[in-house]
Amino acid sequence: MGVMHIPGHEHQGPREVSLDEIRSVMGDCRRCPLFETRGNIVFGTGNPRARVLVVGEAPGKNEDEQGEPFVGRAGANLNGVLALAGLERSDIYIANVLKCRPPANRNPKADEVLACSPFLREQIRSIWPDIIVTLGNPATHFILKTEIGITKLRGRFHQMGHFLVMPTLHPAAALRNPAWQRLLEEDFKMLGEYLAEHPSRATGKATGHSDALPRLED
Ligand code: URA
Repeated sequence: MGVMHIPGHEHQGPREVSLDEIRSVMGDCRRCPLFETRGNIVFGTGNPRARVLVVGEAPGKNEDEQGEPFVGRAGANLNGVLALAGLERSDIYIANVLKCRPPANRNPKADEVLACSPFLREQIRSIWPDIIVTLGNPATHFILKTEIGITKLRGRFHQMGHFLVMPTLHPAAALRNPAWQRLLEEDFKMLGEYLAEHPSRATGKATGHSDALPRLED
């Protein structure tokens, strides 16, 4: 699927389209069968000018009920590890690959990702963060365009066009595995160190990074 057309915008350059405009294109979305079983669309929340965008997999039961990402136990764990990086929820933006809950929290299907991911791609272009943190395999595979498992990818940053990507374990999975929880915490401490050592690029200073958009879904 190509670039999603947002009415009133010809080129949709970085930070040109607002999140509200993207949300209104989504409307009462029926682009995949998940609309039949969802409670609420979970578009995303947070700072539209965040330096750090956190990408999860899909809403769970609590998120589906409340219309907000990461509000359940996984969300509480996410808040805790964000604090290790010196971040609060209001500093970052959080979105999922899928905006609607898959029944019984099953993994996203390829056709659902194909239908929904153009919205994430536009959210990324709208926010234009410095760093994208991907939580778990589905988000990481979608952003990094790889099938390599998260345990092999985590623990370091991956450059992807303009963005630095930090793949890490999903906070829900980490709740079930203390060793993974330690790794998740290590990764967020690494993020905090990076942020402290690298002041914002929003000032427009030369960075040496490419401004090319990553190809997030073809
Ligand atoms: N897990 C996710 O991946 N996203 C949420 O919003 C909640 C739980």
